[in-house]
Amino acid sequence: MTDHRIPALSLDRMHAEIETEALDAIGNVYRSRRYVLGSEVETFERAYAEYIGTRHCVTCASGLDALILSLRVLGIGPGDRVLVPSNTYVATWLAPSALGAIPVPVEPDPVTCNLGIENLEVQDLTRVKAIIPVHLYGQACPMPEIVAWATDRGIHVLEDNAQAHGAAVNGQRTGSFGIVNAHSFYPTKNLGALGEGGAITTDDADLAAQLKVLRNYGQRERYINEVKGINSRFDEIQAAFLNVKLRYLDKWNSERRRLAGLYLDALAGLSDVDLPSTWLDDRQVFHIFPFRTGQRDALREDLASHGVGTLVHYPVPPHLQDAYRELGYVTGSLPVAEHIARRELSLPLYPGLSDDDVHHVCRVITGFFSR
Ligand SMILES: *Cc1c(COP(=O)(O)O)cnc(C)c1O
Repeated sequence: MTDHRIPALSLDRMHAEIETEALDAIGNVYRSRRYVLGSEVETFERAYAEYIGTRHCVTCASGLDALILSLRVLGIGPGDRVLVPSNTYVATWLAPSALGAIPVPVEPDPVTCNLGIENLEVQDLTRVKAIIPVHLYGQACPMPEIVAWATDRGIHVLEDNAQAHGAAVNGQRTGSFGIVNAHSFYPTKNLGALGEGGAITTDDADLAAQLKVLRNYGQRERYINEVKGINSRFDEIQAAFLNVKLRYLDKWNSERRRLAGLYLDALAGLSDVDLPSTWLDDRQVFHIFPFRTGQRDALREDLASHGVGTLVHYPVPPHLQDAYRELGYVTGSLPVAEHIARRELSLPLYPGLSDDDVHHVCRVITGFFSR
């Protein structure tokens, strides 16, 4: 036992580092008397589009809304099929479902845990209109290959970039490869707001214009409804906060990579363990540090008894959730996703975690495996 307490996740250092700037920005919004879709939102949309490397960014109320609105402007509807990873967070599946379309799971590469071309080659593509690659754990999918594969088959690519703000492939940021791409600003993401938020990035001016109408009740002009839209507008306070935070994202992502490097060094060579990709370049922004072992639950308890918090991303894959009973999957239907779900354990990893913290976590883990 020890007094050393290390939470699984902490915003303390990040939010302390920018507190003065953030509170100033929020104070300005308070005094502006404009709270929804104003100048802070416009500034953020420009800055984030520039950061990602697309011509347009349209903010909205959440990452899930960003996925749903993206599929909707691509014309995805009832009976259409959408390829999704079998091992993602359920939001990626819920987006096609919300439009009456059917999520079709594709097993990931068992090493990277991301979609690869190999498993796309074997899919039945009847009525498949889109594919949603997810840059899971902050690690970029092989986008040039996926885009080439999909383009050849007339399938739209829509990136789910909820976990990978700032990751890149060959210097091009994730969230700029698909025709429309979804981002989440949930507080725990690498670029997290002080509440809910999301965005869609695209190079297509027409789709961006449609998205702006759809997120605001289907109106271009007040009280003139062109289409049946929804309310998925973004708040000024959230945008003002992200305008501050965006300037720190690259620095904090580098810090995540440096800490991940310490874990990778200290944990190399353990048996019955899979470590995440050892890429320590901009393909990886380490949203989390996914450690995988067959002794996950016992290790998790041992770490907890030594004051170390951990999380599991995710304990039950979407196909085995009650919400998806209608699709008829059973245990064993998607063995790679199920294998990952049984073994994944997210170790503490966030800007502000100290080298001593990482070494403490690694000592507990190597002690556990030496028994
Ligand atoms: C967080 C997340 C979402 C959903 O974002 P919200 O803002 O919570 O709606 C979608 N996909 C993935 C992979 C996520 O991690």
